Amino acid sequence: MGSAVNLTEDQLAIKAMVANFAKRELADAAFKPETDEQYTARLKRLARQGLLGMTAPVEHGGGGLSYFDALLAVEEMARWDPRSAHEMHTNGTGTASHLWVLGTSEQQERWLRPICEGRMRCAIAMTEPEAGSAATEMTTTATLAEDGDSYCLNGGKIFISGGKHADIFVTYARFGSPPFADGGRSIGALIVERDTPGFSILRNDHNMADEDQAQLLFDNCVVPKFNVLVDGNAFGRLIRIYNRNRLSGVAQALGMAAASYEDALRHMQTRRQFGRELADFQGLQWMLADMAIQLNACRATLYQACQTGPDGELDPLQVSMAKVFVAETCVRVCDMAIQLFGGYGYMAESPVNQRYRRVRGTAIYGGTMQIHRNMVAARVLGRRNDQRRR
Ligand SMILES: Cc1cc2nc3c(=O)[nH]c(=O)nc-3n(C[C@H](O)[C@H](O)[C@H](O)COP(=O)(O)OP(=O)(O)OC[C@H]3O[C@@H](n4cnc5c(N)ncnc54)[C@H](O)[C@@H]3O)c2cc1C
Repeated sequence: MGSAVNLTEDQLAIKAMVANFAKRELADAAFKPETDEQYTARLKRLARQGLLGMTAPVEHGGGGLSYFDALLAVEEMARWDPRSAHEMHTNGTGTASHLWVLGTSEQQERWLRPICEGRMRCAIAMTEPEAGSAATEMTTTATLAEDGDSYCLNGGKIFISGGKHADIFVTYARFGSPPFADGGRSIGALIVERDTPGFSILRNDHNMADEDQAQLLFDNCVVPKFNVLVDGNAFGRLIRIYNRNRLSGVAQALGMAAASYEDALRHMQTRRQFGRELADFQGLQWMLADMAIQLNACRATLYQACQTGPDGELDPLQVSMAKVFVAETCVRVCDMAIQLFGGYGYMAESPVNQRYRRVRGTAIYGGTMQIHRNMVAARVLGRRNDQRRR
């Protein structure tokens, strides 16, 4: 299926490069279990191909691409190898963006370059047991130590994707001393390195898509002042960066849904029942047509939302609209693909099943569908998005 938006020659070349590389080096193993050694080797291959830190500055090892161009690469990779698309997202268009937007040159040399070279991995630590959708209710605190050279971090985080392998955690925390009654105002972010004393991974859970999600503990964890990206007064600014994460998440969903549609299309043209191809049954043709229509609309919505303004920022309204529409639609398309495959689609190893389980998560992480609807509603009603009981 063609693109809903006219892409430039360069953008088409990026997509072709990703597709060729993925078909040659990744696709065969994309849905098979992977050892830690295989994972590390795959990350290095992605780095050699220039697919990590694609939007990061060239002088710190990145690709210097526009956000939109890099997202096209993530979407394309998700068609062939969802796990690699996720690495490109975390260590590039999503979480790693915090480093290149907020990090000093020294911080970027220390962490961004190794990430771009596939020697380091990052994760984002925002959610807490009592602060999920209500992220501004987080209670993890970063208190300046008496020596003034470090911060003492206390608290805990849950559901942290990639925590099992991450070397650094972009950690959101409240700066200052409790009590805090300032909504999100005291929230800032710092980098916690995996081997920091007082930092531990309490457990690694597995989600519906068999991805690991870690629970973190900061127990008088002493973090050098050097690691601070922004020391409070920055929630709005952080969320604007986090918006990159949000669209990068749904770009993966779109790539996976498109792949499931293409698999279903092929299956319908080869599988025969009642002496005919499945593609001969009009009810199934209409399902396929709906999938094509919905994917087309997703692509147009996402590509529009990816356009940054003159200030380099994404429009939050476009982000929330795209997040809701693309995530929900892609879940539906993946579900229809399973239906078209029948029992074959429901088997554990089947790619359409594995993609469905991954895509389902995009309707939850980066803000649930309800939370993004709240944000859209606040904008269209011209009200503040304040969900707290008064
Ligand atoms: C696959 C996956 C990966 C993730 N990765 C990370 C990660 O790397 N780092 C990280 O920090 N977190 C991560 N998360 C956590 C994720 O951000 C949270 O799960 C999400 O923000 C929702 O929070 P919660 O689970 O506490 O649900 P809750 O906030 O308890 O919400 C439960 C339900 O209530 C609804 N709800 C809550 N408040 C409102 C309201 N005001 N109006 C309407 N509905 C409401 C929600 O939409 C949801 O349906 C991940 C989650 C998933 C599923």
